[in-house]
Amino acid sequence: MDKSCLETSVSTSTIKQEYPLKIGIVGLGAFGQFLAKAFQKQGHNVLGTSRSDYSEYCKDNGIDFFRDLNGLCEAQPDVLLVCSSILSTEDVVRGIPFHKLRPDTIIADVLSVKQFAKNLLLDVVPSGFGILCTHPMFGKFSGKNSWEGLRFVFDKVRISGNSAQQRKCEQFLNIFQDEGCQMVEMSCEEHDQYAAESQFITHTVARILSNMNLESTPIDTKGYETLMQLTINTVSHGSDLYDGLFLYNVNAIKQIEKIEKAFDTVKQNLFGKLRDTLRRQIEESDSIKTTRETVPSTQFLPLSERAFKDLSSFSAVPEQTSQTSFQRETEVHHATL
Ligand code: NAP
Repeated sequence: MDKSCLETSVSTSTIKQEYPLKIGIVGLGAFGQFLAKAFQKQGHNVLGTSRSDYSEYCKDNGIDFFRDLNGLCEAQPDVLLVCSSILSTEDVVRGIPFHKLRPDTIIADVLSVKQFAKNLLLDVVPSGFGILCTHPMFGKFSGKNSWEGLRFVFDKVRISGNSAQQRKCEQFLNIFQDEGCQMVEMSCEEHDQYAAESQFITHTVARILSNMNLESTPIDTKGYETLMQLTINTVSHGSDLYDGLFLYNVNAIKQIEKIEKAFDTVKQNLFGKLRDTLRRQIEESDSIKTTRETVPSTQFLPLSERAFKDLSSFSAVPEQTSQTSFQRETEVHHATL
């Protein structure tokens, strides 16, 4: 019997146990391996290929490894899951030999930027094949012990209704649902807007902190420990992911500008207050000199005319900066994506 002709009334878990999916992972890096474990735990068959040779790893972990995409596609997975870095995905996807796949195969991805993935897949994947764009909003640190309550974003970009493809798609999504993920169906465009405001900011703040070479002290607060941990976890992803979050999400540049502006505002407020305090101290000191009265000193800042002058530039409201050549260049870049 054709597995795909099962009645939809049959529960997904029954289908899963009796007819596991064959999931082909393209890109067996940290995240591909992390996902493979969960797929196997739920009884699905995992095949994989990658730029590097993972044959030993796959042998030890029950994954069928293929040296290239040709071999993997000839094995005809139900779902071909693209787990390559954002920066390399275009070349990877354009290299898929679609003629070796069954025509109802679902091409899915887990890229952290979705509009780019959707446009690319719509451009390259021949009609008939399904397209499912997803983004698990967690990784090997946050999802180490459980995926319970963690968000899983998906957009069924092109899945034919009432078909084997539709059922395989549901079966694939149920892997995440069964792990306890909070399933969030939203468009790729909407995802990128939210992700720029959340994930990209998290990574940017972590990068800034990492550039400060923060170190643990004997009196760390819990807040500081959290910042340090965030920095370590985020920066451990390497620069490909972070670069991809910026270069392939048109909303990211706006967030960089917002962070810059917000930091300027914080600085202006602090230095403005410092300047006022210094000025008050200078005035008080002058009046002491004139009256020669002895008053208890409340001064705590180094009193110097020079310091006052140095700080005076921070009291002004920041001017609206005009468009820099950097901004213009990035806008041109994004327009070509
Ligand atoms: P990554 O550095 O973003 O990607 C590593 C993967 O990309 C490896 O499989 C690597 O292959 C492949 N790759 C890199 N350059 C390549 C090239 N020039 N040609 C072909 N393949 C290339 O790290 P990752 O954390 O494993 O992420 C993989 C994908 O998952 C990304 O698209 C990311 O946005 C997404 N994602 C990651 C997380 C996370 O927490 N890490 C969460 C959600 C989604 P080799 O290993 O064979 O060299």
